[in-house]
Amino acid sequence: MFDTIKDRLFCPFCGKQCKEDDYQTKDAGCLLASLTINELIEQYPNEATIKIYHTCDYCGKWIVINLEMLHLKLSQKDKPLTNEEFEKWASEQW
Ligand SMILES: [Zn+2]
Repeated sequence: MFDTIKDRLFCPFCGKQCKEDDYQTKDAGCLLASLTINELIEQYPNEATIKIYHTCDYCGKWIVINLEMLHLKLSQKDKPLTNEEFEKWASEQW
């Protein structure tokens, strides 16, 4: 089983936009859920990396994206964390 990604990502090779639920992952709940990347971050906070993959409908390239969850969570902040804030945040995660 697997889950699908609701976000319509752009192909890094040809630049075309994929459809909803084109990307799959086996690194989350494998519940046939349709999740946005933000929902993945919220629901699987302890995963370090979630790999999503898809074959582009337009250029046929096999695309694998490693979502670095720590980086994505930090990117959701408006401004960079100070070292102190980061250490506090990291200690709460693990
Ligand atoms: Zn493509």
